[in-house]
Amino acid sequence: MYFRRQELTPDIMVGIIGAGISGLTLAYHLQENNIPYLLLEEKDITGGYIKTEIRDDFILDIGPNSILADEEITNFFKTLNIDNELIEASPNSKDRFIYKAGKYQVLPDSPPRLLKSNFFSFKTKISILSEFFKKTANIEDETLAHFITRRFNKEVTDYVLNPFVTGIYAGNPEKLLVKLTFPILYDLENKYGSVLKGMIKSGGSDRRKSFNFKKGMATLPKAIAEKLKNLQVNTKVEKVEYQKGQFRVSVISNGQKVFYDFSQLVIATPAFAASSIVENISPEVAQALSQVEYPPMALVHTVYSKDNVNGELNGFGGLNPKIENKFASGSIWTSSVFPNRVPTDKILLTSFVGGSQYLDQYKGDDQQIGESITQDFQKDLKIEGKPVMQKVHRWEKAIPQYDKNLQTAYSAIEKLQIGGLYFCAGWYKGISLSDCIKNAKQLAKNISTLKDIHS
Ligand SMILES: Cc1cc2nc3c(=O)[nH]c(=O)nc-3n(C[C@H](O)[C@H](O)[C@H](O)COP(=O)(O)OP(=O)(O)OC[C@H]3O[C@@H](n4cnc5c(N)ncnc54)[C@H](O)[C@@H]3O)c2cc1C
Repeated sequence: MYFRRQELTPDIMVGIIGAGISGLTLAYHLQENNIPYLLLEEKDITGGYIKTEIRDDFILDIGPNSILADEEITNFFKTLNIDNELIEASPNSKDRFIYKAGKYQVLPDSPPRLLKSNFFSFKTKISILSEFFKKTANIEDETLAHFITRRFNKEVTDYVLNPFVTGIYAGNPEKLLVKLTFPILYDLENKYGSVLKGMIKSGGSDRRKSFNFKKGMATLPKAIAEKLKNLQVNTKVEKVEYQKGQFRVSVISNGQKVFYDFSQLVIATPAFAASSIVENISPEVAQALSQVEYPPMALVHTVYSKDNVNGELNGFGGLNPKIENKFASGSIWTSSVFPNRVPTDKILLTSFVGGSQYLDQYKGDDQQIGESITQDFQKDLKIEGKPVMQKVHRWEKAIPQYDKNLQTAYSAIEKLQIGGLYFCAGWYKGISLSDCIKNAKQLAKNISTLKDIHS
């Protein structure tokens, strides 16, 4: 056992625990701002949930499959010199399909398409248009399902909200809170009296685009990690003590117990890992973090020869509303979105099984899961024969649920009176990769201003 004080400046030394996209981005920006830091990662590889497997000629993303990026994010890729690696989602993948009345139907994405399409009943079309004039309400801890049913109607909740929430959070809209998941909806109602009015008045068309990289999502963490001077992998943080304004962090690094002292500490791990890390600093926060739910999820990659597919498979993918009782929560038609994932004579589909609404399906073994998925492809997408390859990858703890338990964790953190302790991760105020990158950049900025105060 030995002590090591990382003292590059007398006042500020930032410890970052966890080299997922949040910790990596934070470290990168601190380095750019000449703030001393040390990034500690338990595994021998960085990226956390971002993982790409290259098998034969197939590029398989095991975690996130794309990043929704605006100019700020694409500029970040430029500074990392990976903008030439970027691939934008193909125009063929513009449409999103939802399973309804026994088949996949295009979800109308504009008012003219909504009026023309038969996706919604006449009653629902009227309900959507009358949202402009509905009374507002301010309901504490309102769930997403309650909000959307109140502003629109149950058909919109069942056939739009439910599949999309499953797609993003693998969650249950009856439990997720609107203020935590989509605060923009809550704000639009409050500011403009109507979500639709607010969207029009704020000029709210989403200018972000979906991207991946030629060799998969892992390109991103790899590029950041390569630029970092103070990254230490194979280093698991066990616990942290807070004494006299310093954080004493004990780690197991390559089998050895080591201590580090930091003036600022950023916890960039999942909530369940953060829970044991902060146990000695705040048992209350630790307890609240241990209650944040991460339902399990399996990602199933299925490759077919193109000859087995009847017609073209054009679209981002097919989402399954829970009410339709399908086996998977949905599939991305990956090779329609990013054609280079497999050779041109093949197609790749990525299906999702599990999350809080499909727990029973997740319990099956890999073979059962694979067979159920191929049966549904045969029935719903008219894909014949056996796949060329099928692989099930399981995340025992996949996506943090933005529900009441998380709200309780936020409240416990807000009450914590310890200067210099920060949280920066997918469970903390933004789950998407873009949110993680932006939140980490902002935190780096906040910490960098401390240097100005100290100097
Ligand atoms: C299956 C799946 C699909 C997804 N799809 C998308 C998508 O398509 N688009 C999108 O934008 N987002 C998607 N997400 C969400 C997004 O991937 C995550 O929110 C994001 O990657 C979280 O990054 P992070 O850095 O906050 O945490 P993590 O990725 O969890 O990284 C935390 C790191 O901390 C390390 N760590 C943990 N404990 C310790 C310890 N004690 N000591 C040291 N290190 C430790 C871990 O090993 C890990 O490397 C998806 C998530 C999942 C699970």
